[in-house]
Amino acid sequence: MKPEHCTDDELIEILYGVREPTTHAAICAECRAKLADLERLRAAAAAPPEISAEFLHTQRQRVFERAERYASRPNFRWAPSLAASAAVFLGLLISTPVPKSQPVASVPSDAQLFSEINALLETPEPLAAAPIRNLFEE
Ligand SMILES: [Zn+2]
Repeated sequence: MKPEHCTDDELIEILYGVREPTTHAAICAECRAKLADLERLRAAAAAPPEISAEFLHTQRQRVFERAERYASRPNFRWAPSLAASAAVFLGLLISTPVPKSQPVASVPSDAQLFSEINALLETPEPLAAAPIRNLFEE
């Protein structure tokens, strides 16, 4: 009976030390080659990236250029506080009670009121109102 090769999951577990290497993995040339490939890939992935000093210098210059452009823009940091202050001022202005104005016309006295009513009762009625009055008296 021919022993089966290690699966990829088993090789990965051997690579990261989760599983003890099986005797098959130690003997079989194909499994050892796969394990060596996985170790090479792991080392390449874990290696620090090669970044040239020129690339870093260019990147730093671009960052400084953007920072200078941002600093040269007009600064409107005061605008929100000004808007909030204006809102508070308008709120106070609207909520302040307005004193009621005193009536200009004076209230007539009782004697003056009765004399005016008597004067109205004694005056003859207008001619235009006479036919209407006759309608109500019938
Ligand atoms: Zn094998």
